[in-house]
Amino acid sequence: MKTFLVTGAANGIGRAVVLALAEQGDLALLNDLGDSPALAALVTHLQAAGVETRVVLGDVSAPETARNAFSGLERLDVLVNNAGILNEAPITEMTFEQWDQMIRVHLYGSFLFAQQAARLMTRQGSGAIVNIASDLGQLGCANLCHYSAAKGGIIAFTKALARELAAHGVRVNAVAPGGTLTPMVERLGPDYIREESARYPLQRLGTAEEIAATVAFLASAQASFTTGQVLGVNGGGVMNG
Ligand code: NAD
Repeated sequence: MKTFLVTGAANGIGRAVVLALAEQGDLALLNDLGDSPALAALVTHLQAAGVETRVVLGDVSAPETARNAFSGLERLDVLVNNAGILNEAPITEMTFEQWDQMIRVHLYGSFLFAQQAARLMTRQGSGAIVNIASDLGQLGCANLCHYSAAKGGIIAFTKALARELAAHGVRVNAVAPGGTLTPMVERLGPDYIREESARYPLQRLGTAEEIAATVAFLASAQASFTTGQVLGVNGGGVMNG
């Protein structure tokens, strides 16, 4: 039986990751902030496909959310730390609350879920953790100092955790998407999407399914010799090591 847990599962990249992992999984644990028609539709779809599904609602940055998700869980094969938020502010205008929330959702959320996963996976002697970073964590982005710092932190966290857990048979990798057509980006409007697309050598944004395919690869046995890596799925937007 293959058990997987995806945070921020209701929409965008998280939803596509759930659908990709469901092809190899029997038990899906889905986290998102609250109930939504999108989450309900995903649960119905998985159950119809014969995948047992459990929903754990709550903010990933709150310790009780990860505790609830792992309560009574005896095995976890794959954790995908995906939940994320985006809001712009120049550094001169950025509020403490904006900075604080950005770091909490991405870094505290990834830490809290990875810690619980590590306790199970080290006991099992196997498992894969995939953290969703961003090309902006590699390049940095004006007016997104908080987001860039959070995603850069996720990249460093991934490498440190990969070194710590490797001897226990647990692999930890990151996927760093470039701009991807999801509700997070769609709500910024068509002008933004056109300008963003021009930034990438492939001259377009990615799809959630393209990101999910790389996550599924890293989570699978095909990536059994891959740990501590940051795989860019970014239309060529980042080409250095
Ligand atoms: P999205 O807004 O379309 O979906 C994010 C999901 O996460 C939503 O269902 C939302 O309810 C949930 N979520 C938000 N905050 C949460 C919290 N505190 N606790 C639990 N769930 C929460 O976003 P997306 O584009 O699918 O982004 C997914 C991940 O990919 C994020 O980490 C994002 O930073 C990253 N990413 C996105 C892009 C992009 O261009 N879309 C690029 C690089 C990285």
